Amino acid sequence: MMQTQPPISTDVVLVGGGHTHALVLRRWGMAPIPGVRLTLITDLVDTPYSGMLPSYVAGRYSFDEAHIDLRPLARFAQCRLVVDQAVGVDPDRQRVQCAHHPAIAYDVLSIDTGSTPATVAVPGAADYAIAAKPVPTLLRQWQEFLAEVEAHPQRPIALAVVGGGVGGVELTIGLHERLVNLLADLGQPSSNLTLHLFHRGPELAAERNRWTRRRLEQVLRSRGIQLHLSDAVEAISLDDATGQRLVRGASGVQVECDRVFWVTSASAPDWLQDSGLSLTAQGFIALGDTLQTLSHPNVFAAGDVATMVHHPRPKAGVFAVRQGPPLTDNLRRYVQGQPLQPFRPQKQFLTLIETGDGKAIASRGPFALETSLAHCWKDRIDRKFMARFRDLPVGQMAAPHPLTPSPIRPS
Ligand SMILES: Cc1cc2nc3c(=O)[nH]c(=O)nc-3n(C[C@H](O)[C@H](O)[C@H](O)COP(=O)(O)OP(=O)(O)OC[C@H]3O[C@@H](n4cnc5c(N)ncnc54)[C@H](O)[C@@H]3O)c2cc1C
Repeated sequence: MMQTQPPISTDVVLVGGGHTHALVLRRWGMAPIPGVRLTLITDLVDTPYSGMLPSYVAGRYSFDEAHIDLRPLARFAQCRLVVDQAVGVDPDRQRVQCAHHPAIAYDVLSIDTGSTPATVAVPGAADYAIAAKPVPTLLRQWQEFLAEVEAHPQRPIALAVVGGGVGGVELTIGLHERLVNLLADLGQPSSNLTLHLFHRGPELAAERNRWTRRRLEQVLRSRGIQLHLSDAVEAISLDDATGQRLVRGASGVQVECDRVFWVTSASAPDWLQDSGLSLTAQGFIALGDTLQTLSHPNVFAAGDVATMVHHPRPKAGVFAVRQGPPLTDNLRRYVQGQPLQPFRPQKQFLTLIETGDGKAIASRGPFALETSLAHCWKDRIDRKFMARFRDLPVGQMAAPHPLTPSPIRPS
């Protein structure tokens, strides 16, 4: 007997294929709700996993190892995949505006589109620096730069990283490791490479404990990386004659670089600012304990784009990941008319920071140690996390949906 699909009664639309939504898709796929149609609007089909990003830059992982392929995941969750950029939300008409598709109607919306590094106030940063996000642009420019180095192996190399949080430090170590290895392969000395790290504060990774902060500084100095602490970058300009970027710090120091990587603190994306959704003073989506916006109960959010107003936490992938299960459960409860459950994120969490050469620092609260065991542990955790998105119970997967949206019923 032919099985008939129940009519669609509720449209749940996910915007952004970040860490939290990847987990939502996986969990939803385990138990789809009849009559509920899931749609993912994402500008990327291969979404980068932040935990592996610096190691991918260092050449320790392949592209596939460090990215979540959203296509099989969406099929598994019986989710329509709309490959497009969301450019606006109209919470009154319950629609998401997209760059290239007609507006998409929703009954329930969830936003997990991440953050962007703050560049606005620094002249030249938006034009001459490579922002850490969007990640694909960062990676493309990095690959192009590596190709340039291979084409001109004897040329001296100068790079700068701006931002000495954990992300900036790990990226600096990754860039350094990759270039030192590449220069060795090309028969060139590592002294051809100069790498600068500019940081506004007096210590790196300010949110980590004292031992970790000190150790990271030692690691960078031992690699010969030029640290410019308490030296906020004030301007970046282009030397038209040489094509070099000129980076000027508040101390008056000026360095000439081939490329500048911008990894400063997370800022909120512009496209939500006029949406009418509840926002924090910094422009992030303001959430209550159930991960619903304070303004619209049918709009949820998670990850870097949002702030839980009663439990603010640093913008880190680890928190986006932790929000996956409670967000899924509350979305499911919401569409089924059940009471939602509050979520309280942990205050202290384990951080594993790659220090290169097969080592990592494990830190939690006031405790920290650096060993090769911590590196193996991190590698294991990250691979296990990524395997969850590859080893889907394919027997339960639905037939593929087209990449374009089917007609949207009026809400
Ligand atoms: C170099 C670097 C290293 C880092 N290392 C770590 C680490 O080791 N551990 C850690 O916990 N955190 C780390 N972070 C922080 C981490 O990257 C973020 O906290 C994490 O990615 C946030 O996850 P998310 O789900 O909020 O969004 P993201 O991972 O940023 O994903 C958002 C997704 O939404 C898509 N998107 C964005 N805008 C739109 C739109 N308008 N329409 C449709 N789709 C859209 C994006 O393309 C992306 O796929 C690092 C950050 C950087 C820059």
